[in-house]
Amino acid sequence: MDRVYNFSAGPSQLPLPVLEQAQRDLVNYPGAGCSVMEMSHRSKPYQAIIDTAEKTLRRIMNIPDDYAVLFLQGGASLQFSMIPMNLARQGQTTAYAVTGQFAKKAWEEGKRWGNAVAVVNGKDTNFARIPEITPDMIPQDAAYLHITGNNTIFGTTYNTLPDTGNVPLVCDLSSTILGKEFDVSRFDLIYAGAQKNMGIAGLTVVIVKKDRLTDDLDPVIPTMLRYKVMADNGSMYNTPPCFAIYMAGLVFQWVEQEGGVKALEERNTKKAYALYDYLDQSQVFHPVADPKDRSIMNVTFTLPDDEQTAAFIKMAAGRGLTNIKGHRSVGGCRASIYNAMPMEGVQKLLQCMKDFEAGLRE
Ligand SMILES: *Cc1c(COP(=O)(O)O)cnc(C)c1O
Repeated sequence: MDRVYNFSAGPSQLPLPVLEQAQRDLVNYPGAGCSVMEMSHRSKPYQAIIDTAEKTLRRIMNIPDDYAVLFLQGGASLQFSMIPMNLARQGQTTAYAVTGQFAKKAWEEGKRWGNAVAVVNGKDTNFARIPEITPDMIPQDAAYLHITGNNTIFGTTYNTLPDTGNVPLVCDLSSTILGKEFDVSRFDLIYAGAQKNMGIAGLTVVIVKKDRLTDDLDPVIPTMLRYKVMADNGSMYNTPPCFAIYMAGLVFQWVEQEGGVKALEERNTKKAYALYDYLDQSQVFHPVADPKDRSIMNVTFTLPDDEQTAAFIKMAAGRGLTNIKGHRSVGGCRASIYNAMPMEGVQKLLQCMKDFEAGLRE
């Protein structure tokens, strides 16, 4: 079987040059005499790997010096818990924009720790759009406003960041980090699971303003869940996810070689709008997300019924276009077109949609 165009939301397609580099290094990493998987995380070659990964990420995201970069485990989902525990006192007010399933999960975890208030809840519009947020809607004593930068399941995104007044912004960028430019200084904290646009599962990247790091936390908070401990130990308080960090480092280098995040954002916009332009005039396929909130990373669409949806997914799979079935909670289809998805893959999907529609007309 040839390599497919994999439209999975995550774990997702990786750039081929990254896989090939990993393959070359797999058995014997240059100068180490063993693989990255067998190396001590305290060894010189490994320190170089993690340092280079961090430096490259700092360059491509333009991360200011007053921010720490942490390489953690537990997925983006563990951040739902770590964020309130590290940035808010127990019982303190925190604010959440509930714009999708992951946003809701973050809010639920926030409620375990503090007075987590949903500033908006997109449930009434089936999460097809991002409700407007203005400073007067946010409790101004909140420790932060948590937003989900890109709603992976529904295919919506913040095309402009909300004005929060004096409340710091915390953002889940799992499905859009490195796919789109962000001004890191707008946020107190950014986090993302690596398996969508930065590499493989097992690594979560947290970018946090250093002045939010403190030892003065509730004693019940476990050592492993304290940002300050992780920052003070260079993400190596314990064994880090060594191989996942190495893979992310390769992806960061690839992003740089491709012209950086800005160049990829332009490419991603072209890919997404090739699909949206077709969806907007199709008689069979219908876009899900509100036009102003469309994601360039996850394009969601529906067909008139389940039978046609299944037939289309089957036809696409037959052409080597896989994982376009929508999330089980939304149905329909979803094409996740992260950085590693080339324009050719999108063109093939587009052709498949056109052929499917033409076939129905015959
Ligand atoms: C995938 C995803 C998550 C969950 O990530 P895990 O690493 O599986 O915990 C959280 N938020 C968003 C926006 C996601 O896309």
